[in-house]
Amino acid sequence: MIPYGRQDISEADIAAVVEVLRSDFLTQGPVVPRFEAAVAGQCGAAHGVAVNSATSALHIACMALDLGPGDILWTVPNTFVASANVGVYCGADVDFVDTDPDTYVMSVPALEVKLVQAEAAGHLPKIVMPVHFAGQSADMAAIGALAGRYGFSVIEDASHAIGARYRDRPVGNCAHSDICVFSFHPVKIITTAEGGLATTNNPELATRMELHRSHGITRDPARMAGDSEGGWYYQMVDLGYNYRMTEMQAALGLSQMDRLDAFVARRNELAACYNRRLADLPLTRPAQHPESYSSYHLYPIQVADRARVFADLRQAGIGVNVHYIPVHMQPYWASRSFTEGDFPNAEQYYAHAISIPLYAGLNEEDQDVVIAALASALG
Ligand SMILES: *Cc1c(COP(=O)(O)O)cnc(C)c1O
Repeated sequence: MIPYGRQDISEADIAAVVEVLRSDFLTQGPVVPRFEAAVAGQCGAAHGVAVNSATSALHIACMALDLGPGDILWTVPNTFVASANVGVYCGADVDFVDTDPDTYVMSVPALEVKLVQAEAAGHLPKIVMPVHFAGQSADMAAIGALAGRYGFSVIEDASHAIGARYRDRPVGNCAHSDICVFSFHPVKIITTAEGGLATTNNPELATRMELHRSHGITRDPARMAGDSEGGWYYQMVDLGYNYRMTEMQAALGLSQMDRLDAFVARRNELAACYNRRLADLPLTRPAQHPESYSSYHLYPIQVADRARVFADLRQAGIGVNVHYIPVHMQPYWASRSFTEGDFPNAEQYYAHAISIPLYAGLNEEDQDVVIAALASALG
């Protein structure tokens, strides 16, 4: 089976993890801060906060921005369920903004319409969370401008998009957002097995996220109620979690960062090959916005008869997948009053979507096999 995505682990990655296993610290040591600095540096952001998953990073990002009961978070339906779930973790209400029919990221016109309606109804969101689907940035300048006008905060769910660029600057620089979150799950661009990281330029948000990833405990006298009682002293000043990344994970991530640019370049090369060689088949290729350089986490195509083409490809040993079943159509969300028809662009996209194999280690022979199987399935 040729999978739709998989990690690329080098001998240097393995050596980096083993070195940590022989060292003094398996957690809360020096490697996590080095990994944070490497990712923040790559992005051109002032701070990086590493945690045990992107889901955790999205959660502490919402907490740092004070999302709570009575507040509203908007994200897109064409995403992994975690983007929406973190709003519920905070006790907030969650709603969705439909996606663009061509690029499958948050539609700015749909966002504008919804903001006008929400303002009239007195229900403006506290946080808007665009998702850089498949590795392509949403139109962050436009979303950032609306954030200024309507007073909401912006969290970028860039789980797919480390190494991507928007208007010639790296995704994660937070020029148009408060916080940007990456995932390091093995199918993503670089991996720490499980892991995630939030970047921000706001030192207060960084400190609050650090607090929430580790039980709400601080050892900084400046953040304590009253005076420190001595060198042993710490205070729990808020309710936090244990969302810490281990030193082994950080060592793997740090080693993987050496190949980030090569991984993204290779994914772009493979995508360019698909673009060329699928041009004459009856399918829709993923459209690219001219201001965006995608990290190509996914290569999602649209076909008329999705169920049959999917089954034929699986039969041929191609590990195709579908990203995403619209979140509002999941039973959990349907029970919270969402229904089919609420977000027609995301639903229409889903009805025809297949993600075909794309990962840095995909070789030309395997890509040939995928293309031939697709051509045969499309008759
Ligand atoms: C993978 C993913 C997440 C969750 O990432 P984890 O690191 O697995 O928690 C969130 N949002 C999107 C869009 C994702 O693809």
